[in-house]
Amino acid sequence: MRLKGRVAVVTGGSRGIGRAIALALAEEGAAVAINYQRNEASAKEVVQEIERMGGRSGDIFQADVSDPAQVLRMRGAILQRFERVDILVNNAGINRDKSFINMDYETWKAVVSVDLDGAFHCTKAFVVAMKARGYGRIINISSVVGQTGNFGQANYAAAKAALLGLTKTLAKEFAPKGVTVNAVAPGFIETEMVTGTPDEVKEKVLAQIPMHRFGKPEDVAKAVVFLASDETSYITGHVLNVNGGLYV
Ligand code: NAD
Repeated sequence: MRLKGRVAVVTGGSRGIGRAIALALAEEGAAVAINYQRNEASAKEVVQEIERMGGRSGDIFQADVSDPAQVLRMRGAILQRFERVDILVNNAGINRDKSFINMDYETWKAVVSVDLDGAFHCTKAFVVAMKARGYGRIINISSVVGQTGNFGQANYAAAKAALLGLTKTLAKEFAPKGVTVNAVAPGFIETEMVTGTPDEVKEKVLAQIPMHRFGKPEDVAKAVVFLASDETSYITGHVLNVNGGLYV
C-alpha cells in the first residue's frame, strides 16, 4: 500500500496500458480517477475490478483530452469526487500511421492533439494545485518511437519526442515545489494499439528485442507505480525505458 491516501488520475484508463496502470495504482492504495473518451462500459469494468480488491476506490470521468474545455469540466468533476489530485498519468494516446509523403495535415494534427496537446491540457489542469500543496507526481507515457523515430510514424514520433522535452522542462520548473515530472518510454507492448501490426513487422521488431518478447501492460504499470511513489522524491526529469532492451 505504497500509495495509500493518494489520489491519481489516469487518462485513457479504460483499456490497455492505462487500464493496467489504474489497477496497479489502486492495488497500492491510491484512489483512481479513470478518464475515458468513449467506452464507458470498459471504464466501469476497471472501477469494478478496483472495488473487488477491497478498501479501494475508483470512478470514471469522460473527456476528450485534446479538448481543453472538456478537460476543465473533467477536473471539476474529479475534484468534487476526490477533493485533490496527487498523481497525474498522461497515458491517453493514438496512432495514425502513414509514410510522411502520404501524411496529410489532418492525420498529423489528430495524433499531436491527443498525444502531446492532451498532456498539456491535463497538466495545466492539475499542476497548479499540486504546486500550491508542494506535492505532485506527473508521469507522461512517451514511447521508444519518440527516442528512435520509426518509418510511417512521423506524427506519433514527433509527439512522443516532444513529450520528453515537456517532461524535462516541467521537471525543472516544478522541482523546487515538490512536484516531480518523469516519463516512461514503453517499447512494443501487446495492446489493441498494436493489434493491427502485420505479423511480418512484428517478427522484425521481435528480432530486435534482446529479451525476445513483447512487453505486457503490467510491465509499464510497475514503472509508473515506482515513479508515482514517495520513494522517488529525488527523481525528476527521468525517462524510464520499459522496452526489453530494444533501445538502450
Ligand atoms: P490503447 O489504444 O489500448 O489505449 C489508448 C487509450 O487512450 C484508450 O483507452 C483510448 O480510449 C484513450 N484515448 C485515445 N484518445 C483519447 C482522447 N482524445 N481522450 C481521452 N482518451 C483517449 O493503446 P495502449 O497501447 O494502451 O497505449 C497507451 C499509451 O501507451 C499511449 O500513449 C501509447 O502511445 C503508449 N505506448 C504504447 C505502446 C504499445 O506498444 N502499445 C508503446 C509505447 C507507448
